[in-house]
Amino acid sequence: MFSKLLIANRGEIAVRIIRACKEMGISTVAVYSEADRDALHVSLADESVCIGPARVQDSYLNMAAILSAAAATGAQAIHPGYGLLSENARFAELCKECRIAFIGPDSRLISLLGDKERARDTMQKAGVPVVPGAGLVPDGETAQKEAEAIGFPLLIKARAGGGGRGIRLVRSMEEVLPAFSAAYAEAQSAFGDGACYMEKFLSPVKHIEMQILCDQHGNVVCLGERECSMQRKNQKLLEESPSPAVSPQLREKMMEASVRAAKAVGYQNAGTIEYLVDREGNFYFMEMNTRLQVEHPVTEMVTDIDLVKWQIRIAAGLPLDFSQKDISISSHAIECRINAEDPEHNFTPSCGKISLLHIPGGPWVRFDTALYQEYSVPPFYDSMLGKLIVRAKTREEAIRKMQAALCELVIEGVHHTAELQMDLLSEEAFLQGTYTTDFLSKRGVSC
Ligand code: ADP
Ligand code: ADP
Ligand code: MG
Repeated sequence: MFSKLLIANRGEIAVRIIRACKEMGISTVAVYSEADRDALHVSLADESVCIGPARVQDSYLNMAAILSAAAATGAQAIHPGYGLLSENARFAELCKECRIAFIGPDSRLISLLGDKERARDTMQKAGVPVVPGAGLVPDGETAQKEAEAIGFPLLIKARAGGGGRGIRLVRSMEEVLPAFSAAYAEAQSAFGDGACYMEKFLSPVKHIEMQILCDQHGNVVCLGERECSMQRKNQKLLEESPSPAVSPQLREKMMEASVRAAKAVGYQNAGTIEYLVDREGNFYFMEMNTRLQVEHPVTEMVTDIDLVKWQIRIAAGLPLDFSQKDISISSHAIECRINAEDPEHNFTPSCGKISLLHIPGGPWVRFDTALYQEYSVPPFYDSMLGKLIVRAKTREEAIRKMQAALCELVIEGVHHTAELQMDLLSEEAFLQGTYTTDFLSKRGVSC
Protein backbone atom coordinates (compact mmCIF):
# COMPACT_ATOMS: atom_id res chain seq x y z
CA MET A 1 0.00 0.00 0.00
CA PHE A 2 1.10 3.58 -0.62
CA SER A 3 2.46 5.48 2.34
CA LYS A 4 1.93 8.95 0.87
CA LEU A 5 -0.68 10.22 -1.61
CA LEU A 6 -1.11 13.60 -3.28
CA ILE A 7 -4.60 14.93 -3.94
CA ALA A 8 -4.72 16.87 -7.22
CA ASN A 9 -8.00 18.60 -6.49
CA ARG A 10 -9.73 21.03 -4.14
CA GLY A 11 -13.04 21.53 -2.34
CA GLU A 12 -15.21 18.82 -0.89
CA ILE A 13 -13.71 16.02 -2.96
CA ALA A 14 -10.18 16.79 -1.77
CA VAL A 15 -11.47 16.66 1.82
CA ARG A 16 -13.28 13.38 1.08
CA ILE A 17 -10.10 11.78 -0.26
CA ILE A 18 -7.96 13.04 2.64
CA ARG A 19 -10.41 11.43 5.08
CA ALA A 20 -10.15 8.07 3.30
CA CYS A 21 -6.34 8.27 3.39
CA LYS A 22 -6.33 9.10 7.10
CA GLU A 23 -8.40 6.03 7.85
CA MET A 24 -6.04 3.93 5.73
CA GLY A 25 -2.91 5.26 7.44
CA ILE A 26 -1.70 7.00 4.26
CA SER A 27 -0.18 10.44 4.70
CA THR A 28 -1.53 13.17 2.48
CA VAL A 29 -0.20 16.02 0.38
CA ALA A 30 -2.61 18.78 -0.60
CA VAL A 31 -1.91 21.09 -3.53
CA TYR A 32 -3.52 24.51 -3.64
CA SER A 33 -3.74 27.70 -5.65
CA GLU A 34 -2.92 31.13 -4.24
CA ALA A 35 -6.68 31.70 -3.87
CA ASP A 36 -7.01 28.55 -1.75
CA ARG A 37 -4.47 29.25 1.01
CA ASP A 38 -7.26 29.15 3.60
CA ALA A 39 -9.05 26.16 2.09
CA LEU A 40 -10.05 23.27 4.33
CA HIS A 41 -8.23 20.61 2.30
CA VAL A 42 -4.96 22.46 2.91
CA SER A 43 -5.35 22.44 6.68
CA LEU A 44 -6.53 18.82 6.83
CA ALA A 45 -3.64 17.38 4.80
CA ASP A 46 -0.36 16.41 6.42
CA GLU A 47 1.60 18.53 3.94
CA SER A 48 0.67 21.11 1.36
CA VAL A 49 2.26 22.70 -1.67
CA CYS A 50 1.19 25.89 -3.44
CA ILE A 51 1.10 25.15 -7.17
CA GLY A 52 0.30 28.52 -8.69
CA PRO A 53 -2.15 31.40 -9.13
CA ALA A 54 -5.93 31.20 -8.81
CA ARG A 55 -6.72 30.36 -12.45
CA VAL A 56 -7.10 26.57 -12.80
CA GLN A 57 -4.92 26.61 -15.93
CA ASP A 58 -2.09 27.95 -13.76
CA SER A 59 -2.66 25.70 -10.73
CA TYR A 60 -5.02 22.72 -10.59
CA LEU A 61 -4.51 21.99 -14.31
CA ASN A 62 -0.78 22.68 -14.17
CA MET A 63 0.56 19.15 -14.64
CA ALA A 64 4.22 20.07 -14.26
CA ALA A 65 3.62 21.89 -10.96
CA ILE A 66 1.56 19.00 -9.57
CA LEU A 67 4.08 16.35 -10.60
CA SER A 68 6.91 18.44 -9.13
CA ALA A 69 4.98 18.69 -5.86
CA ALA A 70 4.57 14.91 -5.85
CA ALA A 71 8.28 14.36 -6.52
CA ALA A 72 9.37 16.92 -3.92
CA THR A 73 7.18 15.41 -1.19
CA GLY A 74 7.81 11.77 -2.15
CA ALA A 75 4.14 10.99 -2.88
CA GLN A 76 3.76 7.56 -4.51
CA ALA A 77 0.25 8.10 -5.84
CA ILE A 78 -2.00 10.90 -7.09
CA HIS A 79 -5.76 10.94 -6.69
CA PRO A 80 -7.27 13.36 -9.24
CA GLY A 81 -10.81 13.50 -7.74
CA TYR A 82 -13.40 14.51 -10.36
CA GLY A 83 -13.27 17.30 -12.96
CA LEU A 84 -9.87 19.03 -13.42
CA LEU A 85 -7.25 16.43 -14.47
CA SER A 86 -9.29 13.35 -13.60
CA GLU A 87 -10.08 12.49 -17.23
CA ASN A 88 -6.85 13.78 -18.75
CA ALA A 89 -5.07 10.89 -20.49
CA ARG A 90 -1.85 12.89 -20.84
CA PHE A 91 -1.71 13.46 -17.09
CA ALA A 92 -2.24 9.74 -16.37
CA GLU A 93 0.57 9.01 -18.83
CA LEU A 94 2.90 11.54 -17.22
CA CYS A 95 2.22 10.05 -13.78
CA LYS A 96 3.27 6.68 -15.15
CA GLU A 97 6.44 8.12 -16.65
CA CYS A 98 7.24 9.64 -13.24
CA ARG A 99 6.53 6.26 -11.58
CA ILE A 100 3.65 7.69 -9.61
CA ALA A 101 0.44 5.68 -9.42
CA PHE A 102 -2.52 7.51 -10.98
CA ILE A 103 -5.66 6.55 -9.04
CA GLY A 104 -7.87 5.65 -11.98
CA PRO A 105 -7.72 3.64 -15.19
CA ASP A 106 -4.70 3.89 -17.47
CA SER A 107 -4.31 6.53 -20.16
CA ARG A 108 -5.46 4.15 -22.93
CA LEU A 109 -8.85 3.71 -21.27
CA ILE A 110 -9.16 7.41 -20.47
CA SER A 111 -8.54 8.32 -24.14
CA LEU A 112 -10.83 5.63 -25.48
CA LEU A 113 -13.77 6.42 -23.20
CA GLY A 114 -13.13 10.18 -23.02
CA ASP A 115 -13.85 10.28 -26.73
CA LYS A 116 -17.61 9.87 -26.43
CA GLU A 117 -18.02 8.93 -30.06
CA ARG A 118 -15.38 6.18 -29.94
CA ALA A 119 -16.84 4.95 -26.66
CA ARG A 120 -20.25 4.73 -28.28
CA ASP A 121 -18.84 2.74 -31.17
CA THR A 122 -16.91 0.41 -28.84
CA MET A 123 -19.98 -0.27 -26.70
CA GLN A 124 -22.16 -0.93 -29.72
CA LYS A 125 -19.64 -3.53 -30.88
CA ALA A 126 -19.72 -5.09 -27.40
CA GLY A 127 -23.48 -5.54 -27.75
CA VAL A 128 -24.48 -2.70 -25.42
CA PRO A 129 -27.42 -0.70 -26.84
CA VAL A 130 -26.45 2.89 -27.70
CA VAL A 131 -28.59 5.97 -28.45
CA PRO A 132 -29.43 5.89 -32.17
CA GLY A 133 -27.37 8.44 -34.05
CA ALA A 134 -24.39 9.05 -36.27
CA GLY A 135 -20.64 8.97 -35.80
CA LEU A 136 -18.39 12.00 -36.19
CA VAL A 137 -19.77 14.70 -38.47
CA PRO A 138 -16.87 16.56 -40.13
CA ASP A 139 -18.90 19.49 -41.50
CA GLY A 140 -22.30 21.15 -41.59
CA GLU A 141 -23.28 19.52 -44.86
CA THR A 142 -22.69 16.02 -43.49
CA ALA A 143 -24.58 17.03 -40.35
CA GLN A 144 -27.59 17.94 -42.50
CA LYS A 145 -27.43 14.63 -44.34
CA GLU A 146 -27.17 12.64 -41.12
CA ALA A 147 -29.94 14.71 -39.55
CA GLU A 148 -32.33 13.59 -42.25
CA ALA A 149 -31.61 9.95 -41.41
CA ILE A 150 -31.81 10.41 -37.62
CA GLY A 151 -34.92 12.62 -37.61
CA PHE A 152 -35.80 15.53 -35.29
CA PRO A 153 -35.32 16.47 -32.55
CA LEU A 154 -31.66 15.49 -32.26
CA LEU A 155 -28.58 16.54 -30.36
CA ILE A 156 -25.21 17.64 -31.67
CA LYS A 157 -22.67 16.61 -29.01
CA ALA A 158 -18.98 17.31 -28.58
CA ARG A 159 -16.98 14.08 -28.49
CA ALA A 160 -14.79 15.65 -25.78
CA GLY A 161 -17.79 17.08 -23.90
CA GLY A 162 -18.35 16.95 -20.17
CA GLY A 163 -20.09 18.75 -17.32
CA GLY A 164 -23.17 19.26 -19.52
CA ARG A 165 -21.27 21.43 -22.02
CA GLY A 166 -20.90 21.05 -25.77
CA ILE A 167 -24.48 19.81 -26.34
CA ARG A 168 -26.95 21.49 -28.74
CA LEU A 169 -30.60 20.60 -29.29
CA VAL A 170 -31.74 20.75 -32.92
CA ARG A 171 -35.47 20.74 -33.70
CA SER A 172 -35.54 21.27 -37.45
CA MET A 173 -33.37 21.20 -40.57
CA GLU A 174 -32.97 25.01 -40.50
CA GLU A 175 -31.32 24.75 -37.09
CA VAL A 176 -28.70 22.18 -38.11
CA LEU A 177 -26.05 24.51 -39.55
CA PRO A 178 -26.13 27.18 -36.82
CA ALA A 179 -26.25 24.49 -34.08
CA PHE A 180 -23.34 22.63 -35.62
CA SER A 181 -21.22 25.80 -35.75
CA ALA A 182 -22.20 26.74 -32.18
CA ALA A 183 -21.47 23.28 -30.76
CA TYR A 184 -18.17 23.12 -32.65
CA ALA A 185 -17.08 26.56 -31.39
CA GLU A 186 -18.13 25.87 -27.79
CA ALA A 187 -16.34 22.51 -27.74
CA GLN A 188 -13.24 23.99 -29.35
CA SER A 189 -12.99 26.69 -26.71
CA ALA A 190 -14.01 24.53 -23.72
CA PHE A 191 -12.16 21.31 -24.54
CA GLY A 192 -9.67 22.30 -27.27
CA ASP A 193 -11.42 19.82 -29.57
CA GLY A 194 -14.39 20.88 -31.68
CA ALA A 195 -15.27 17.48 -33.15
CA CYS A 196 -18.96 16.59 -32.79
CA TYR A 197 -21.25 13.61 -33.27
CA MET A 198 -25.04 13.35 -33.36
CA GLU A 199 -27.67 11.48 -31.38
CA LYS A 200 -31.41 11.22 -31.52
CA PHE A 201 -32.87 13.37 -28.73
CA LEU A 202 -34.78 10.92 -26.58
CA SER A 203 -37.61 12.38 -24.53
CA PRO A 204 -38.98 11.82 -21.98
CA VAL A 205 -36.13 9.81 -20.50
CA LYS A 206 -34.46 9.04 -17.23
CA HIS A 207 -30.73 9.31 -16.68
CA ILE A 208 -29.72 6.12 -14.91
CA GLU A 209 -26.08 5.28 -14.33
CA MET A 210 -24.32 2.15 -13.12
CA GLN A 211 -21.34 2.20 -10.77
CA ILE A 212 -18.66 -0.38 -11.39
CA LEU A 213 -15.45 -1.37 -9.65
CA CYS A 214 -12.82 -3.44 -11.46
CA ASP A 215 -9.57 -4.60 -9.89
CA GLN A 216 -6.32 -5.52 -11.63
CA HIS A 217 -7.11 -9.24 -11.32
CA GLY A 218 -10.11 -9.37 -13.64
CA ASN A 219 -12.81 -9.01 -10.97
CA VAL A 220 -15.67 -6.75 -12.03
CA VAL A 221 -18.50 -5.83 -9.69
CA CYS A 222 -21.48 -3.60 -10.44
CA LEU A 223 -22.73 -1.68 -7.40
CA GLY A 224 -26.18 -0.91 -8.79
CA GLU A 225 -27.63 2.25 -10.21
CA ARG A 226 -28.01 5.90 -9.40
CA GLU A 227 -31.00 7.84 -10.66
CA CYS A 228 -29.80 11.26 -11.87
CA SER A 229 -32.79 12.57 -13.81
CA MET A 230 -33.23 15.73 -11.74
CA GLN A 231 -31.15 18.06 -13.90
CA ARG A 232 -30.78 21.66 -14.92
CA LYS A 233 -28.89 22.42 -18.13
CA ASN A 234 -27.88 18.76 -18.43
CA GLN A 235 -26.27 18.94 -14.98
CA LYS A 236 -27.37 16.83 -12.08
CA LEU A 237 -28.98 18.46 -9.04
CA LEU A 238 -30.29 15.53 -7.01
CA GLU A 239 -29.48 11.84 -7.16
CA GLU A 240 -30.88 8.74 -5.53
CA SER A 241 -30.28 5.02 -5.32
CA PRO A 242 -31.97 2.74 -6.06
CA SER A 243 -34.02 4.38 -8.81
CA PRO A 244 -37.76 4.30 -8.05
CA ALA A 245 -38.31 3.56 -11.75
CA VAL A 246 -35.98 0.60 -12.24
CA SER A 247 -37.61 -2.80 -11.84
CA PRO A 248 -35.57 -5.77 -10.58
CA GLN A 249 -35.63 -7.20 -14.14
CA LEU A 250 -34.40 -3.97 -15.72
CA ARG A 251 -31.72 -3.63 -13.03
CA GLU A 252 -30.48 -7.11 -13.77
CA LYS A 253 -30.28 -6.39 -17.51
CA MET A 254 -28.50 -3.06 -16.99
CA MET A 255 -26.05 -4.56 -14.52
CA GLU A 256 -25.29 -7.39 -16.90
CA ALA A 257 -24.74 -4.93 -19.79
CA SER A 258 -22.48 -2.78 -17.57
CA VAL A 259 -20.30 -5.70 -16.53
CA ARG A 260 -20.09 -6.74 -20.19
CA ALA A 261 -19.14 -3.18 -21.18
CA ALA A 262 -16.42 -3.00 -18.51
CA LYS A 263 -15.01 -6.36 -19.54
CA ALA A 264 -15.12 -5.45 -23.24
CA VAL A 265 -12.67 -2.60 -22.70
CA GLY A 266 -10.63 -4.28 -19.94
CA TYR A 267 -11.69 -1.55 -17.52
CA GLN A 268 -9.84 -0.92 -14.26
CA ASN A 269 -10.69 1.02 -11.10
CA ALA A 270 -13.98 2.83 -10.42
CA GLY A 271 -16.11 3.88 -13.37
CA THR A 272 -19.64 4.92 -14.20
CA ILE A 273 -21.67 3.95 -17.21
CA GLU A 274 -24.40 6.46 -18.01
CA TYR A 275 -27.60 5.38 -19.77
CA LEU A 276 -30.83 6.95 -20.89
CA VAL A 277 -33.91 4.88 -20.10
CA ASP A 278 -37.25 5.42 -21.85
CA ARG A 279 -40.78 4.79 -20.52
CA GLU A 280 -40.81 1.30 -22.06
CA GLY A 281 -37.71 0.32 -20.10
CA ASN A 282 -35.33 0.39 -23.08
CA PHE A 283 -31.90 1.58 -22.06
CA TYR A 284 -29.21 3.20 -24.18
CA PHE A 285 -25.52 3.76 -23.42
CA MET A 286 -24.66 7.46 -23.36
CA GLU A 287 -21.11 7.67 -22.02
CA MET A 288 -18.69 6.20 -19.53
CA ASN A 289 -16.99 8.39 -16.92
CA THR A 290 -13.55 7.05 -16.04
CA ARG A 291 -13.38 8.65 -12.61
CA LEU A 292 -15.02 9.02 -9.26
CA GLN A 293 -18.43 10.59 -9.71
CA VAL A 294 -19.69 13.62 -7.77
CA GLU A 295 -22.67 11.54 -6.58
CA HIS A 296 -20.64 8.49 -5.49
CA PRO A 297 -21.78 8.83 -1.82
CA VAL A 298 -25.28 7.68 -2.79
CA THR A 299 -23.82 4.31 -3.78
CA GLU A 300 -21.60 4.21 -0.70
CA MET A 301 -24.60 4.75 1.54
CA VAL A 302 -26.62 1.86 0.12
CA THR A 303 -23.76 -0.62 -0.37
CA ASP A 304 -21.60 0.21 2.68
CA ILE A 305 -18.63 0.18 0.29
CA ASP A 306 -16.15 3.04 0.50
CA LEU A 307 -15.47 3.81 -3.17
CA VAL A 308 -12.49 6.07 -2.55
CA LYS A 309 -10.72 3.49 -0.40
CA TRP A 310 -11.35 0.88 -3.07
CA GLN A 311 -10.01 3.16 -5.78
CA ILE A 312 -6.79 3.45 -3.79
CA ARG A 313 -6.59 -0.27 -2.99
CA ILE A 314 -7.19 -1.21 -6.64
CA ALA A 315 -4.44 1.17 -7.80
CA ALA A 316 -2.13 -0.47 -5.25
CA GLY A 317 -2.88 -3.86 -6.83
CA LEU A 318 -5.17 -5.31 -4.15
CA PRO A 319 -8.03 -7.56 -5.26
CA LEU A 320 -11.68 -6.79 -4.45
CA ASP A 321 -12.62 -8.73 -1.32
CA PHE A 322 -16.29 -9.06 -2.34
CA SER A 323 -18.05 -10.31 -5.43
CA GLN A 324 -21.27 -9.59 -7.26
CA LYS A 325 -23.28 -11.93 -5.05
CA ASP A 326 -22.31 -9.92 -1.96
CA ILE A 327 -24.03 -6.83 -3.33
CA SER A 328 -27.57 -6.58 -2.07
CA ILE A 329 -29.25 -3.26 -1.62
CA SER A 330 -31.94 -2.92 1.01
CA SER A 331 -32.01 0.78 1.83
CA HIS A 332 -32.47 4.07 0.00
CA ALA A 333 -30.13 7.06 -0.31
CA ILE A 334 -30.69 10.56 -1.68
CA GLU A 335 -28.18 13.32 -2.38
CA CYS A 336 -28.93 17.02 -2.84
CA ARG A 337 -26.20 19.17 -4.35
CA ILE A 338 -26.04 22.55 -2.64
CA ASN A 339 -24.64 25.04 -5.14
CA ALA A 340 -23.59 28.64 -4.53
CA GLU A 341 -26.06 29.94 -7.09
CA ASP A 342 -29.06 32.22 -6.87
CA PRO A 343 -32.16 30.38 -8.15
CA GLU A 344 -34.10 33.69 -8.01
CA HIS A 345 -31.68 35.28 -10.48
CA ASN A 346 -31.14 32.69 -13.17
CA PHE A 347 -28.71 30.67 -11.06
CA THR A 348 -25.96 33.27 -11.19
CA PRO A 349 -22.96 32.06 -9.18
CA SER A 350 -22.62 33.59 -5.76
CA CYS A 351 -19.46 34.05 -3.71
CA GLY A 352 -18.57 35.67 -0.41
CA LYS A 353 -17.88 34.98 3.23
CA ILE A 354 -19.81 32.27 5.08
CA SER A 355 -21.15 34.27 8.02
CA LEU A 356 -23.05 31.41 9.62
CA LEU A 357 -22.84 27.67 9.09
CA HIS A 358 -24.79 24.90 10.71
CA ILE A 359 -24.39 21.40 9.35
CA PRO A 360 -27.24 18.96 10.01
CA GLY A 361 -26.53 15.75 11.90
CA GLY A 362 -28.25 12.65 13.20
CA PRO A 363 -28.11 9.03 12.08
CA TRP A 364 -27.38 8.41 8.37
CA VAL A 365 -27.01 12.09 7.51
CA ARG A 366 -23.81 13.07 5.72
CA PHE A 367 -22.72 16.48 4.47
CA ASP A 368 -19.66 16.41 2.25
CA THR A 369 -18.28 19.92 2.15
CA ALA A 370 -15.16 22.02 2.44
CA LEU A 371 -17.02 24.91 4.10
CA TYR A 372 -16.33 26.28 7.54
CA GLN A 373 -17.62 29.38 9.26
CA GLU A 374 -15.86 32.60 8.10
CA TYR A 375 -14.53 30.81 4.99
CA SER A 376 -14.64 33.00 1.89
CA VAL A 377 -16.00 31.16 -1.16
CA PRO A 378 -13.69 32.22 -3.99
CA PRO A 379 -15.15 33.16 -7.39
CA PHE A 380 -12.75 31.06 -9.48
CA TYR A 381 -14.04 27.52 -9.11
CA ASP A 382 -16.99 25.16 -9.27
CA SER A 383 -20.09 26.51 -7.54
CA MET A 384 -20.83 23.38 -5.49
CA LEU A 385 -20.76 24.16 -1.74
CA GLY A 386 -21.54 20.69 -0.56
CA LYS A 387 -23.59 17.54 -0.96
CA LEU A 388 -26.19 16.55 1.59
CA ILE A 389 -26.73 12.80 1.62
CA VAL A 390 -29.15 10.72 3.67
CA ARG A 391 -29.94 7.06 3.92
CA ALA A 392 -33.02 5.29 5.30
CA LYS A 393 -34.77 1.96 5.09
CA THR A 394 -37.36 3.14 2.57
CA ARG A 395 -37.56 5.91 -0.03
CA GLU A 396 -40.38 7.63 1.89
CA GLU A 397 -38.28 7.72 5.04
CA ALA A 398 -35.25 8.95 3.09
CA ILE A 399 -37.32 11.81 1.66
CA ARG A 400 -38.49 12.81 5.13
CA LYS A 401 -34.96 12.58 6.45
CA MET A 402 -33.71 14.81 3.62
CA GLN A 403 -36.48 17.33 4.29
CA ALA A 404 -35.51 17.46 7.97
CA ALA A 405 -31.81 17.77 7.14
CA LEU A 406 -32.40 20.54 4.59
CA CYS A 407 -34.50 22.40 7.17
CA GLU A 408 -31.66 22.19 9.62
CA LEU A 409 -28.92 23.25 7.18
CA VAL A 410 -27.90 26.88 7.59
CA ILE A 411 -25.45 28.52 5.18
CA GLU A 412 -25.47 32.32 5.38
CA GLY A 413 -23.36 34.73 3.37
CA VAL A 414 -23.95 33.34 -0.12
CA HIS A 415 -27.03 32.49 -2.16
CA HIS A 416 -27.56 28.76 -2.53
CA THR A 417 -29.94 26.09 -3.76
CA ALA A 418 -31.11 24.40 -0.52
CA GLU A 419 -34.60 25.91 -0.74
CA LEU A 420 -34.98 24.86 -4.36
CA GLN A 421 -34.03 21.32 -3.31
CA MET A 422 -36.68 21.46 -0.59
CA ASP A 423 -39.29 22.43 -3.19
CA LEU A 424 -38.24 19.60 -5.49
CA LEU A 425 -38.74 17.03 -2.73
CA SER A 426 -42.44 17.83 -2.51
CA GLU A 427 -43.13 17.80 -6.26
CA GLU A 428 -45.61 15.13 -7.26
CA ALA A 429 -43.37 13.75 -10.02
CA PHE A 430 -40.53 13.40 -7.55
CA LEU A 431 -42.71 11.72 -4.94
CA GLN A 432 -44.05 9.34 -7.59
CA GLY A 433 -40.53 8.71 -8.85
CA THR A 434 -41.65 9.37 -12.44
CA TYR A 435 -39.58 12.54 -13.04
CA THR A 436 -37.53 12.65 -16.22
CA THR A 437 -34.59 14.82 -17.34
CA ASP A 438 -36.94 17.52 -18.71
CA PHE A 439 -38.70 17.95 -15.34
CA LEU A 440 -37.19 21.30 -14.37
CA SER A 441 -37.49 22.90 -17.80
CA LYS A 442 -41.15 21.86 -17.94
CA ARG A 443 -41.61 23.42 -14.50
CA GLY A 444 -40.36 26.72 -15.91
CA VAL A 445 -36.93 26.74 -14.28
CA SER A 446 -34.51 28.30 -16.77
CA CYS A 447 -32.65 25.50 -18.45
P1 ADP B 1 -20.86 13.75 -12.38
O1 ADP B 1 -21.36 12.90 -13.47
O2 ADP B 1 -19.82 13.14 -11.53
O3 ADP B 1 -21.95 14.37 -11.64
P2 ADP B 1 -20.46 16.24 -13.69
O4 ADP B 1 -20.82 16.08 -15.12
O5 ADP B 1 -21.37 16.96 -12.77
O6 ADP B 1 -20.07 14.82 -13.15
O7 ADP B 1 -19.00 16.88 -13.61
C1 ADP B 1 -18.23 16.78 -12.45
C2 ADP B 1 -17.29 17.90 -12.39
O8 ADP B 1 -16.33 17.79 -13.40
C3 ADP B 1 -17.91 19.24 -12.57
O9 ADP B 1 -17.19 20.13 -11.78
C4 ADP B 1 -17.74 19.51 -14.05
O10 ADP B 1 -17.70 20.89 -14.28
C5 ADP B 1 -16.41 18.87 -14.30
N1 ADP B 1 -16.23 18.24 -15.63
C6 ADP B 1 -16.80 17.11 -16.08
N2 ADP B 1 -16.35 16.79 -17.29
C7 ADP B 1 -15.47 17.75 -17.64
C8 ADP B 1 -14.65 17.99 -18.79
N3 ADP B 1 -14.63 17.16 -19.85
N4 ADP B 1 -13.87 19.08 -18.79
C9 ADP B 1 -13.87 19.91 -17.74
N5 ADP B 1 -14.59 19.74 -16.63
C10 ADP B 1 -15.39 18.68 -16.57
P1 ADP C 1 -21.75 15.10 -20.26
O1 ADP C 1 -20.52 14.47 -20.83
O2 ADP C 1 -21.73 16.58 -20.33
O3 ADP C 1 -22.11 14.52 -18.93
P2 ADP C 1 -23.82 13.43 -21.42
O4 ADP C 1 -23.64 12.82 -22.75
O5 ADP C 1 -23.62 12.53 -20.24
O6 ADP C 1 -22.89 14.70 -21.29
O7 ADP C 1 -25.26 14.09 -21.33
C1 ADP C 1 -25.60 14.97 -20.27
C2 ADP C 1 -27.13 15.02 -20.14
O8 ADP C 1 -27.71 15.48 -21.37
C3 ADP C 1 -27.79 13.69 -19.88
O9 ADP C 1 -27.82 13.36 -18.51
C4 ADP C 1 -29.19 13.91 -20.46
O10 ADP C 1 -30.00 14.59 -19.57
C5 ADP C 1 -28.91 14.79 -21.65
N1 ADP C 1 -28.73 13.99 -22.88
C6 ADP C 1 -27.58 13.61 -23.44
N2 ADP C 1 -27.78 12.89 -24.56
C7 ADP C 1 -29.10 12.82 -24.73
C8 ADP C 1 -29.97 12.23 -25.74
N3 ADP C 1 -29.47 11.59 -26.79
N4 ADP C 1 -31.31 12.38 -25.59
C9 ADP C 1 -31.82 13.05 -24.54
N5 ADP C 1 -31.08 13.63 -23.57
C10 ADP C 1 -29.73 13.52 -23.66
MG1 MG D 1 -22.53 12.57 -18.51
